[in-house]
Amino acid sequence: MREIKDLQTIEHDVLVVGAGGAGLRAAIEASRLGLSTGVIMKSLLGKAHTVMAEGGMAAALGNVDDRDNWKVHFRDTMRGGKFLNVWEMAEIHAKEAPDRVRELEEWGAVFDRTKDGLINQRNFGGHRYPRLAHVGDRTGLELIRTLQDAGVHGGIDFHMECIGIDLTLEGGRVAGMLGYWRDTGRFALFKAPAVIFATGGAGKAWRVTSNSWEYTGDGFGMAYRAGAELMDMEFTQFHPTGMVWPPSVRGTLVTEGVRGEGGILKNSEGKRFMFGYVPERFAPETADTVEEAAKWLGGDKEARRPPELLTRDVVARAIRAEVKAGRGSPHGGAFLDIASQQPADFIKRKLPSMYHQFKELAEVDITAEPMEVGPTLHYYMGGIRVNAVTQMTNVPGLFAAGECGTGLHGANRLGGNSLSDLIVFGARAGQGAKDYIDALSSRPKPDQGHVNDIITDAMSFLDRDDGENPYVVVDDVQVAMEEHVGIIREGPELEEGLEKLAALLERTKNVKAHATSQYNPGWNTCLDLRNMLISAEATARSALAREESRGAHTRLDFEGEREEGLKYNCVIRRAADGSMELRKEPRPAPPEELAKIANASIEDLEANRV
Ligand SMILES: Cc1cc2nc3c(=O)[nH]c(=O)nc-3n(C[C@H](O)[C@H](O)[C@H](O)COP(=O)(O)OP(=O)(O)OC[C@H]3O[C@@H](n4cnc5c(N)ncnc54)[C@H](O)[C@@H]3O)c2cc1C
Repeated sequence: MREIKDLQTIEHDVLVVGAGGAGLRAAIEASRLGLSTGVIMKSLLGKAHTVMAEGGMAAALGNVDDRDNWKVHFRDTMRGGKFLNVWEMAEIHAKEAPDRVRELEEWGAVFDRTKDGLINQRNFGGHRYPRLAHVGDRTGLELIRTLQDAGVHGGIDFHMECIGIDLTLEGGRVAGMLGYWRDTGRFALFKAPAVIFATGGAGKAWRVTSNSWEYTGDGFGMAYRAGAELMDMEFTQFHPTGMVWPPSVRGTLVTEGVRGEGGILKNSEGKRFMFGYVPERFAPETADTVEEAAKWLGGDKEARRPPELLTRDVVARAIRAEVKAGRGSPHGGAFLDIASQQPADFIKRKLPSMYHQFKELAEVDITAEPMEVGPTLHYYMGGIRVNAVTQMTNVPGLFAAGECGTGLHGANRLGGNSLSDLIVFGARAGQGAKDYIDALSSRPKPDQGHVNDIITDAMSFLDRDDGENPYVVVDDVQVAMEEHVGIIREGPELEEGLEKLAALLERTKNVKAHATSQYNPGWNTCLDLRNMLISAEATARSALAREESRGAHTRLDFEGEREEGLKYNCVIRRAADGSMELRKEPRPAPPEELAKIANASIEDLEANRV
């Protein structure tokens, strides 16, 4: 066992792991409530995933269409999530998002404006009314900038390039976390009775993804090892429009805002194909003809919605079907055309990042020609299971918020509901941590033996004489997930995928990083790999267990939603022997009032009859 005598120790009331929107909002809340608060992050402040968010954040402000209210937002979220959402979370989210957005404005966020000077809102897939507060196509940047300003000036301690490895517990309660500094490779022990995970998703387990290098499922892995439960891991969202060319940027996101601002999808025959993929139950809510869609695009709010703005699962599967039928674009996607729908100056004003992204990365001028796009792994609906109100997990003192948590989005997330998720449940996690700490009679102390074990495990990748290159294993995980746990899934393929992941887990035990822990991305990758594999296995196991197609989870061998599917959630936890255990946990009956709202007709909701 390796013991470090001069181990750096840092003490906080609350340690937040992650500096995206959820982490920053949680830290602000905790700090405002008087707790000493530290935030660690894998990279630099301002570089979290949230900064990449383009389209906007959903909140029923009713600024553009005054028929909008929390009930309609709640109903849209439940329907998008195919009713598998945690009802109470969807209610809290829809009710609290408007206040959280207005609060950002008070803190200095500069949103796009309506003619009347209100926060402007745009259309997005699955949202009944224009609902996304936005800043051009750089909403995430403004969100992060605003939260950082509030945090930096609010006395929060930011520890940049400091990576969490594992939690330390005492008597099953959180006592802190062990991490390391990316540059020096030195370990640091954070003593804190409450830890909030806001670590984002695990998109890097796939080959084609909109996610960046930081998203290796660290929160999932660390929570799982500490005894927390993961839930709904089968629900991984493939965004329909990622770049497909050139290969170096494959997967990079093309915001739904392009379709929200009028972009249409065409196949290689020049046909606008989405009209052929409108699910029966949505038909009355969508435009039936190109003329009707054009009317809507012209700004008439009474007209119905264009089919390009159906939920992401529907659009992603439609593009895949067109490609399979031989009607794809030259590089295996579809054409997204806004040039023929909107004037060049409108496109440059409304979608400046997209304009530059295509100009610089693909040499395509989107004001003059269509983009080539295809599905890309984008978002984890599943994640660490939390209490809807406090955000605490089943491990006392461990909280989770944002993409690494779960419950709000059910089987599929509506675009824009993530940014609002971060600020609503980030704030709640901060409050939850305060309430938890206030109720503690004594502070748990990190167990030195456990800390030494974590260090020994982490150093084993450097200590062994020989072993496999971790990057090769990461590559093989990504290929296995792409091939076996992709957008369309099937039992035998998933079983084969699980066998491959089991073999990869064995290989992971023997990966080797060379030299020392200083400036060593190879060693960092060895540590990430453990978390990536837990995320991948939990996803594949849950996908195999759910024998139906619902939301973002599509099974070729179990087409359509099954009644049975609404009766359970797939819950994963670590068994006593260290193996991964899955159980189908019965879902509680929905609260009557909420069920009424979710099932109400839109006319009844608008007329306030529900
Ligand atoms: C290109 C793109 C566009 C998007 N557009 C939208 C949009 O318009 N609207 C919308 O609602 N959603 C959008 N999303 C989704 C949304 O941006 C993300 O779901 C959301 O930002 C996640 O925020 P978060 O706070 O949970 O985590 P992130 O912002 O992902 O931050 C995670 C943080 O955790 C840190 N971290 C991870 N592991 C560790 C560790 N072991 N130790 C220390 N720190 C760690 C990271 O360094 C980072 O600071 C988009 C996503 C992408 C990729």
